[in-house]
Amino acid sequence: MAAELGHFINGERVGGTSGRLFDIFNPSTGEVQRQVTLASAAEVEKAVDAAQKAFPAWAAINPQRRARVIFKFKELVEKDMDNLARMLSEEHGKVLPDARGDVQRGLEVVEFACGIPHLQKGEYTDAAGPGIDVYSMRQPLGVVAGITPFNFPAMIPMWMFSVAIACGNTFINKPSEKDPSVPLRLAELMMEAGAPEGVLNVVNGDKEAVDAILADPRVKAISFVGSSKIAHYIYATGTANGKRVQAFGGAKNHMIVLPDADMENAVNNLIGSAFGSAGERCMATPVAVPVGEETADTLVAMLKPKVEALRIGPSLSEDSDLGPLVTAAHREQVRAYIDLAVEEGQELVVDGRDFSLQGYENGFFMGGTLLDRARPGHKSYDEEIFGPVLQVARAKNFEEAVALPSNHQYGNGVAIFTRNGAAAREFAQKVNVGMVGVNVPIPVPVAYHTFGGWKRSGYGDINQHGPEGVRFWTKVKTVTQRWPEDVQGPEFVIPTMG
Ligand code: NAD
Repeated sequence: MAAELGHFINGERVGGTSGRLFDIFNPSTGEVQRQVTLASAAEVEKAVDAAQKAFPAWAAINPQRRARVIFKFKELVEKDMDNLARMLSEEHGKVLPDARGDVQRGLEVVEFACGIPHLQKGEYTDAAGPGIDVYSMRQPLGVVAGITPFNFPAMIPMWMFSVAIACGNTFINKPSEKDPSVPLRLAELMMEAGAPEGVLNVVNGDKEAVDAILADPRVKAISFVGSSKIAHYIYATGTANGKRVQAFGGAKNHMIVLPDADMENAVNNLIGSAFGSAGERCMATPVAVPVGEETADTLVAMLKPKVEALRIGPSLSEDSDLGPLVTAAHREQVRAYIDLAVEEGQELVVDGRDFSLQGYENGFFMGGTLLDRARPGHKSYDEEIFGPVLQVARAKNFEEAVALPSNHQYGNGVAIFTRNGAAAREFAQKVNVGMVGVNVPIPVPVAYHTFGGWKRSGYGDINQHGPEGVRFWTKVKTVTQRWPEDVQGPEFVIPTMG
């Protein structure tokens, strides 16, 4: 078997000492391609030591020089794009063009972070009182951490660490144990870009490593992205331990299709966003909500041949629409949800459960599945499936179409397809979901806006990247100053500006 992956601590790759290993598969072939070491609490402590040591000097560097490191990192990632995308595709299973997109969407936040000298500026009020000026500054927090999921091993670590490091923090990334090669390579590139040792560390591991991060009082903030159960655990434990925490969880995004929508356009957008990356995206669209029976019948009839015609292939192929799922265990879970949906009375329009790819029979492939007549109360609708499965939940009218995503336990993204501007506007105003697309199926905000879902899709108050990212990774200090020329007497009344 090929190399064993360790950690990246204090500017270099180091082997693991815990003796615990985890298999990393190539999901297209089903083979174990390498193993990753799972950190003990003592190994996490070493990474925190390195980050703690690096913090004072890194925080003291002026923001323009920090921005130069981030800018150089952007150039190095661009140069390494093909290598990163291939590595990512081989461990995750998403097709190569989509793997490049994963790196590129992370890079867009890196580009945003290059503007840190401007973004981190404080505010100033001249003459707030007699001879008094007030100013504020945004200071870094110290050692901070990012715990990241398997489904975006390039984008999500870059969302977090590029802004955190640009702000003057030092960082520990605990990536998913399923595809850790890209996060390790990104840390190497950050060092090559000129970041001092200890500024970006990667500790591989599972719950043991996460619990060590949660327990260490030197870690001041944690950004988490993953499933809701773990997001809640991280939020509850991290905040109880006095840390700042943002924790983003699972999703079940709906796409509303009004009767006046361009149906061909809506169907194409649904197919791409439901089945791209085999549905393993938190901003995928696993639920279609056609409004009215006629719209629903047309939509299902148009979707069926397109789901049957999906091109499913090995991840390194450039012309597949989707590749395999991440692990055999995850594929079993997705299959079980389809079995359940059928038991719950949903209509199985296209069944992808038994798909097998010739020449890749051991790969973790599934065909696309289309289910009609999903309802709230069906467990398979109420929960996240995270696979190549599209459920149709028919709505009688506009009000019901607003209510379905609004009442769902998750509130990450939602979309509406229509030609009616007033209806779209009303929908965007009323719907109880964090990110809304109007004729846009995957409304992931651009890097200089902010990303974050509501309800069980996001715990905490501050979003990811954009100006909110800078707020999350800094604390505000406000200074009130005067330089009196005369000696002043004691003041017993609270000073007011009246
Ligand atoms: P996951 O929750 O299994 O793992 C996420 C991270 O938590 C990993 O680093 C993992 O090692 C760690 N972890 C797992 N079990 C743990 C435990 N018991 N204690 C402590 N840490 C633990 O999620 P995943 O399967 O890697 O990713 C898929 C999930 O992430 C889906 O639910 C998806 O919707 C969600 N996701 C959400 C967003 C978002 O922005 N809301 C983005 C991407 C993915």
